[in-house]
Amino acid sequence: MDDATSLRRAMVDQQIIARGVSDPRVIHAMLTVPREAFVPEGWQAHAYNDGPLPIGADQTISQPYIVGLMIEAAAMQPGDRVLEIGAGSGYAAAVMSRIAGEVWAIERIPKLADRARRVLADLGCDNVMILDADGTAGLPERAPFQAIIVSAAAPTLPPALLEQLAPGGRLVAPLGGRFQQQLTVYSRTEDGSISAEDLGGVAFVPLISGQV
Ligand code: SAH
Repeated sequence: MDDATSLRRAMVDQQIIARGVSDPRVIHAMLTVPREAFVPEGWQAHAYNDGPLPIGADQTISQPYIVGLMIEAAAMQPGDRVLEIGAGSGYAAAVMSRIAGEVWAIERIPKLADRARRVLADLGCDNVMILDADGTAGLPERAPFQAIIVSAAAPTLPPALLEQLAPGGRLVAPLGGRFQQQLTVYSRTEDGSISAEDLGGVAFVPLISGQV
């Protein structure tokens, strides 16, 4: 095993499985995506740290555990079409691409979107589409989605996103204040009704309306 492979195994054992993420698809995906490819030059040695890391433009790649928790909560299945708002480095999109059928990920900062596209192409994640846009409107032309992940914090959920959730689908979003939010999971039943569950406190960078 090379260094990155054993660091990745340790990350999955100690940060993901030990904290209760148990979906075998999520565990397998996180074991196969090289997180070091998504962190900026000079940060590779920290890629498997138990926390977020800077990726430039005042943004961060989320903590591995939070990525695993969100993707498990979204309960995506092989073949699903999924949407991410806030692609950032592209790491979470890469993990989802190993589980779902197609991943549409929206990013408002073009230089982050460009880098994410390059890294994903190098890794052969050809079922991920990174789009340059303000994601608060979602992606109505590709809706509905079986799973939606919002990777940036908002006081309340932009209404367009829930409208784009398929029956049986789940939407995961950090909702609350500037520095602390509750990770909230919305489920749409087959008959269309919505329920919400709180997965606990998190801290995300803000969801910002408007394109750069
Ligand atoms: N999932 C990412 C982490 C993203 S950090 C990863 O794995 O690396 C949150 C990202 O959301 C930032 O890159 C930020 O630019 C982006 N963002 C914030 N508001 C947005 C909006 N309205 N539309 C699209 N992206 C947005």
